[in-house]
Amino acid sequence: MTLAYDDVLAARRRIAGIAHHTPVFTSRTFDELTGAEVFFKMENFQRVGAFKFRGAYNALSRIDADRRARGVIAFSSGNHAQAVALAARILGIKATIVMPFDAPAAKLEATRGYGAEIVQYDRYSQDRRDVGAELAAEHGYTMIPPFDHPDIIAGQGTAVAELIGEVGVLDAVVVPLGGGGLLSGSALSARELSPGARIYGVEPEAGDDGRQSFRAGRIVTIPTPKTIADGAQTTALGELTFPIIRDLVDDVVTASDDELAAQVRFFASRMNVVVEPTGALAAAAASGNQLDLAGQRVGVVVSGGNVDPAALAGILAPA
Ligand SMILES: *Cc1c(COP(=O)(O)O)cnc(C)c1O
Repeated sequence: MTLAYDDVLAARRRIAGIAHHTPVFTSRTFDELTGAEVFFKMENFQRVGAFKFRGAYNALSRIDADRRARGVIAFSSGNHAQAVALAARILGIKATIVMPFDAPAAKLEATRGYGAEIVQYDRYSQDRRDVGAELAAEHGYTMIPPFDHPDIIAGQGTAVAELIGEVGVLDAVVVPLGGGGLLSGSALSARELSPGARIYGVEPEAGDDGRQSFRAGRIVTIPTPKTIADGAQTTALGELTFPIIRDLVDDVVTASDDELAAQVRFFASRMNVVVEPTGALAAAAASGNQLDLAGQRVGVVVSGGNVDPAALAGILAPA
């Protein structure tokens, strides 16, 4: 399976008029802080509040009529769940989402609100893959993985393609990293549309499996990391995302929870926007000292804005 920019282009045509073309924001204060000219791609304003709608809609729109009639299934308590639920509703496909019993009530409600059927399981006694595999086998559902799938990767790559199309060639592109769907798709776009750009992935410091994998040249698996970046609590890169990242990305760096909280505060207080901690990964690294971005034109992907109000309050006004 080799993915190329052409796959991102095809995804762009499929999602046109359905996914939002999200805005690009700039901040004079952030530019002064970093010495760079920064273009924020605001995927917190994407449908469902995160870029994941791009990949989910692209993947679901490629399923044939026979499989569509049977339905799709996804495991997620986060943004992927809502993305699959909404994409399925738009396409008239039945969606089943497998979530743990202790998933946040707000996420359950949001996903149900998009019309998906929720199946809950006990994280401590049941393996969600068994729960899902049983349901899929019984009903013939098509599994929609959160990152390790060619149509998901191609769909996620459309955000950076839009960004470069709008602001022109960049010196660097900085992207949040969990399982690597967003970063690998972004790298396909950036390498094609701005070949000289340096491409960086940013992970939570507590979950740096991507950095370890990038350095080791093979996929390194870690235990589930403890971090406020709940959208990047992945334990390993994917079989499809890793080789793209290895071949096209220049480096993988990290941001600590304190840096993420400070960046979420910056977005709220200086730019009047709500960004979830995972969505702030790339901006946090851009303002830190691991990347030397001074004097450069830099694209920063702000990947999502779904944060529980109580958690947001805690970040904005720490005790
Ligand atoms: C899923 C997610 C990520 C990580 O994306 P991957 O494709 O898994 O690397 C980053 N930010 C947000 C807001 C997400 O929902």
